[in-house]
Amino acid sequence: MRLTAQLHLHTTESKGTRIVVDSIINPKQAVDLAKRNGIDVIAVTDHDTTSAYPKIKKHAEESGILLINGIEIKTLDGHLIGLDVDVGLEENLSRPITTLEARDLIKDSGGEVYIPHLFDIRNAGIGTKIKEIDGIVEVFNPLDIFGFEDRYADLVASRLGKPKAVGADAHLPKMLNLCLTVVDSEPDTHSILNAIKKGKTEFKNCRHLTLREMKELSLERVSNSYDYIKNKIRNGWEVDRGYMILANNPLMKILEDFTLELGMRTKKSKIWDFVVCISHILAILYAKKTKREFDAFISNL
Ligand SMILES: [Zn+2]
Ligand SMILES: [Zn+2]
Repeated sequence: MRLTAQLHLHTTESKGTRIVVDSIINPKQAVDLAKRNGIDVIAVTDHDTTSAYPKIKKHAEESGILLINGIEIKTLDGHLIGLDVDVGLEENLSRPITTLEARDLIKDSGGEVYIPHLFDIRNAGIGTKIKEIDGIVEVFNPLDIFGFEDRYADLVASRLGKPKAVGADAHLPKMLNLCLTVVDSEPDTHSILNAIKKGKTEFKNCRHLTLREMKELSLERVSNSYDYIKNKIRNGWEVDRGYMILANNPLMKILEDFTLELGMRTKKSKIWDFVVCISHILAILYAKKTKREFDAFISNL
């Protein structure tokens, strides 16, 4: 039978370091949205946690949605997703791990490796490590908006003979319906993942987010994290990266507080379209640099 699957989605259980609410889809809502959109299968793939699955397992069953327990592990080399892993896998993540270690954790837990946004411009994908990792390659991600990333992921998956799928990397409710993998399979997790590995797939609703949607995503995340950010500005951030040295001084606190308040008051203002355009231009320049590194990798494949 033909089953429509959303293989990459985040719920409010995913926590960001600066902006604590990474996704604004609450776990129960993910199931309800799937049902409303005629999606048969969803994998919850929160960052470094499997906590959504036990909370919505029963609700998914009652709604007739097949729920796959997943996790997106932030490894030292980029993100790696495990599909159909055990609940509590994150207990092994108390220290940073490499992609190879993450792969072993996923495999030991009986899961399948899914490789998201392989050529992300900020190197949030595993990039050239793909040679060492067997797994399903995500060949379309709505957040890969710089033009080459998905094309290269598709090309490399073909050249290395790896199975392909697509995923929404959904952080907003309306993203859940993007990038669906339609699988010809029996309706159980094991058969579905096997069918994907055999290439019995079609891809549906693949498109990138527009700049306006990217803006909406940022503003939603910040406004849902408002109390957390406010508290950090008041009581101090953890200084864990070079650029965070700037944080926590009195002038910075005033500036951050002013920006946050202004941002929340002027959400509908055109100024944010302008800000997004400027940061997009900067990101395009950055993407050109990353693309050159990946070009060299691909030409040597
Ligand atoms: Zn990711
Ligand atoms: Zn993700």
